[in-house]
Amino acid sequence: MLACEMDTNPAHKTCSFCGLQGTADTLFAGGLGAMMCSDCVSAFHMEFSSEEGRQSISLRSRPRMPWDEMSDTELLSKLPKIAATATQVSSFLGEWVQLARERGLSWTEIGQAPGVSRRAARERFTKTKPPEANASA
Ligand SMILES: [Zn+2]
Repeated sequence: MLACEMDTNPAHKTCSFCGLQGTADTLFAGGLGAMMCSDCVSAFHMEFSSEEGRQSISLRSRPRMPWDEMSDTELLSKLPKIAATATQVSSFLGEWVQLARERGLSWTEIGQAPGVSRRAARERFTKTKPPEANASA
C-alpha cells in the first residue's frame, strides 16, 4: 500500500544556498527540491533589486568566479553542503514519484517524464525492505 507523506518539517530541510540546517521555526521558500532560508531570500532580494546588485551577483560580469577565491579548505567545506542539497532534492523527487503513484500513474508514465524506462523508474523509486532475518545483522 502506498502512503505518500511529504516531509514538510522545516527541521528536516537545509537551505540549498547557504547550507543552514532548518529548525521547527525556520521559514523556507522551496521549489523543485531546492530550499532557500529567509536570510538568503532577503539577501538575494536586495541583490536583485538594484542594477548594481544584479551586476555584482551576475557570474557573467565577474572577472573571477567565487570558487576561484576559495582556499582548498573552503572548497572542501562546500562538498558536504552540496551533497546535502543533492540528498534533499533526491528525497523530494522520491516524494513526488510516490505522489504520482498514489494518483495511479504508471511506471511507464513516471519513467517518461525524466526520460528513463518504466523498469529504470520502478527500480530507482521502489524501496525494497531487507528480509526480517537480516534486520538485526
Ligand atoms: Zn540560506
